[in-house]
Amino acid sequence: MSDVRNVIIIGSGPAGYTAALYTARASLRPLVFEGAVTAGGALMNTTEVENFPGFRDGIMGPELMDNMRAQAERFGAELIPDDIVAVDLTGDVKTVTDSEGNVHKARAVIVTTGSQHRKLGLPNEDKLSGRGVSWCATCDGFFFRDQDIAVVGGGDTALEEATFLSRFARSVTIIHRRDTLRASKAMQERAFADEKIRFEWDSAVEAIHGDPKLSGVTLRDTTTGETRELDVTGLFIAIGHDPRTELFKGQLELDAEGYLKVESPSTRTNIPGVFGAGDVVDHTYRQAITAAGTGCSAALDAERYLAALD
Ligand code: FAD
Repeated sequence: MSDVRNVIIIGSGPAGYTAALYTARASLRPLVFEGAVTAGGALMNTTEVENFPGFRDGIMGPELMDNMRAQAERFGAELIPDDIVAVDLTGDVKTVTDSEGNVHKARAVIVTTGSQHRKLGLPNEDKLSGRGVSWCATCDGFFFRDQDIAVVGGGDTALEEATFLSRFARSVTIIHRRDTLRASKAMQERAFADEKIRFEWDSAVEAIHGDPKLSGVTLRDTTTGETRELDVTGLFIAIGHDPRTELFKGQLELDAEGYLKVESPSTRTNIPGVFGAGDVVDHTYRQAITAAGTGCSAALDAERYLAALD
């Protein structure tokens, strides 16, 4: 059993690094697979983070993640910037396979693979992320005080983001491909009653403009094909998220939208010794602090699980 680790953590955002910090401090010598391309998680792609407690003046996303990484490493976490491409979680000893085909074994696995926000797939979208283009009203709404902004989407999330943003913005335009909304009746009524919110129906974003910051978008009428310009300094894209759970299908229980199911308020999945934390579980909050919080819970759950085995 000497090649069997105590804990393997798959994923390296705030959830993964926090789980690594806690399990490392509990002398469990965690092995963390951080992902090949986006080690550090979603905050590596943003600029200023103003709502992570403890940083009075805010902190840049990549710096925050470098700090978390270094903190976990300081206590002995072993970090590998590679993807896990296959898993077998069913037995007492779980195996995970990296991109070079190496198989790693552990008695417990913590899944913190996050979720991917859906993109429009337009040029400039990534370049202007954090410079006017955003996927998170809670994170960035405050930066758009008295500005004209737009929200793309027609579901509950889009309308919730729009009503939240209308507290700060001068105007909020909801851009929706159809002439009816998917959102619940209650959310629709709230949005229709909000004087700052207006709608661009039957409209899709065709291009995003601005350098170095967002200055506007081109809209295409989905029925006539005509285009028009909309001047906005904020664009919130709320067309959904895809949890990264492909790897676990057939082994771990997923909900209808593909998120990992846990025995809430614990982080236990349907397989003993496998725990889930962060945005791969979370439909609702999707914040760095909540991901870090559940990463901590997963580490404590894993620690107790291992203690009970010994
Ligand atoms: P993630 O941060 O998504 O990390 C998951 C990691 O797992 C990734 O590195 C991924 O590569 C890795 N991974 C996935 N699959 C595998 C695999 N098979 N093998 C190995 N590794 C794998 N929140 C705030 O609180 N404040 C903000 O200001 C804020 N701003 C944001 C700005 C942007 C642009 C975005 C996109 C999000 C922002 N958020 C913010 C939300 C926050 O980033 C997320 O809620 C948080 O990062 C989720 O953490 P996580 O650890 O669950 O997952």
